[in-house]
Amino acid sequence: MIFVQSKEELDDILKKIRKNSNIISLVPTMGNLHAGHLSLIKIAKKNSTKVVTSIFINPLQFGKNEDYNDYPRTIESDKRKLEKLGCDILFYPKSNEEIFPKKQKIKLISSGDVGKILCGRKRPGHFDGVLTVVYKLFSIIKPNLAVFGAKDYQQQFLIRKMSINLFPDLKIITGKIIRDRLGLALSSRNNYLSYKEKQIAPFFFKSLQSGYELYKTGKNFPYIIEKVKNLLISEGFDVDYLEIRNTELKLTNFQNRDLKNILLGSVKLGETRLIDNIEFN
Ligand code: AMP
Repeated sequence: MIFVQSKEELDDILKKIRKNSNIISLVPTMGNLHAGHLSLIKIAKKNSTKVVTSIFINPLQFGKNEDYNDYPRTIESDKRKLEKLGCDILFYPKSNEEIFPKKQKIKLISSGDVGKILCGRKRPGHFDGVLTVVYKLFSIIKPNLAVFGAKDYQQQFLIRKMSINLFPDLKIITGKIIRDRLGLALSSRNNYLSYKEKQIAPFFFKSLQSGYELYKTGKNFPYIIEKVKNLLISEGFDVDYLEIRNTELKLTNFQNRDLKNILLGSVKLGETRLIDNIEFN
């Protein structure tokens, strides 16, 4: 695996690779890689001939009181995992300046109204930060294909929307959510959970699953939301939001089952924020 820290060097390498008509894929991450990230790299490998993984903890997507400084930085073990999986190139910018040069004013990409709902309500500016860094990475790497996870449903939705306009030739694949054996969606932030919180955390997905069971029996959306919320509260979660939307993230009539619907939630366990979702098939 080639380990690159400067965008100029990366550009030189990619130019050579492109000459041999390779299909280049990109898997953007913030590192602290777990099986969720690795599943995306496996998808990238299947669908391309050269896989680039980026590890960059993007300061623009963290709020003032969020965990930018504490975010786990585990580059050596990440490198080993990528090497083992057969990733071709790891782009690990040597500083934030590599992506956001001090001399240039940062031109934020707006996530619009969809960036203000769900996770965006409590995290103003978060999705603008995400889109801005993804835009930068796409511009530097110019991949043919990029892979994102369904755990961050709103994020992959917004990236798809941005790409339709700005990177029309880029193919985007969304990989399914990878969970631990108890159903908890893998996340670097799970590391923050205390022993006790780790026992509670799997009930997040179990509660979403109960919502799906209610949906299958024909219950209406407000009823499902109420029931799932109460379940979560009784388990000790602080519910930030819980919403049923269609897969285009529009609020639907509570009886509307024409489009595929999705139950999305964000909860807090102590200081740790968890997100998850379940698609109603
Ligand atoms: P992050 O490092 O948290 O920015 O995540 C990088 C990519 O991995 C994003 O596209 C996430 O949606 C994806 N991802 C994170 N956790 C999971 C998971 N449990 N299953 C599948 N994809 C995931």
